Amino acid sequence: MFLKKLEIYGFKSFPDRIEIQFERGITGIVGPNGSGKSNIGDAVRWVLGEQSAKSLRGGKMEDVIFSGTEKRKPLGYCEVALTFDNEDRGLDIDYTEVTIMRRVYRSGEGEYFINKNACRLKDIVELFRDTGSGREGYSVVGQGKVDEILSAKPEDRRQVFEEAAGVMKYKARKEEAARK
Ligand code: ATP
Ligand code: MG
Repeated sequence: MFLKKLEIYGFKSFPDRIEIQFERGITGIVGPNGSGKSNIGDAVRWVLGEQSAKSLRGGKMEDVIFSGTEKRKPLGYCEVALTFDNEDRGLDIDYTEVTIMRRVYRSGEGEYFINKNACRLKDIVELFRDTGSGREGYSVVGQGKVDEILSAKPEDRRQVFEEAAGVMKYKARKEEAARK
């Protein structure tokens, strides 16, 4: 499975609808300071279900919506869609292509979709669990993350390895069953 396309509308510094296509191999995103490189990484984590405004470098969730400039009015909502090539069924869902989408309004209301079908955050988190690509997956290595892993408590560091080993799914199910 690999990331094919990222579409953004109204997220942070992107008021226009933009589409970034990724090829197999490495894609680099370059640009001057403040041009929105990190915002692209934030968009990826956000659509995967990131719930912490702080980790998205904002104060509240609304801060991810384009807040306007001198020339442009703020927007009322934003959305991000991420499309994966799933020929190899790396994601446990029977489609060759999987698009997940998240939209949020200023009112705080939000929606998630998997291949255009409305779903819960939980469905997205479960779909990506153990793939390494979820919101807490090791595939997004933010600034300071390497330091954080090296200096983490052994129990916390273990989570990174468990995700890589693909056992988080079972742990989560066990915990859920124990709560019932
Ligand atoms: P650097 O090279 O310094 O790391 P960068 O390319 O990673 O820069 P970002 O941090 O992605 O830059 O972008 C920061 C810009 O995004 C700032 O100019 C900030 O004003 C803008 N920005 C963030 N949130 C919003 C928002 N909700 N609405 C409009 N602009 C926003
Ligand atoms: Mg940056």
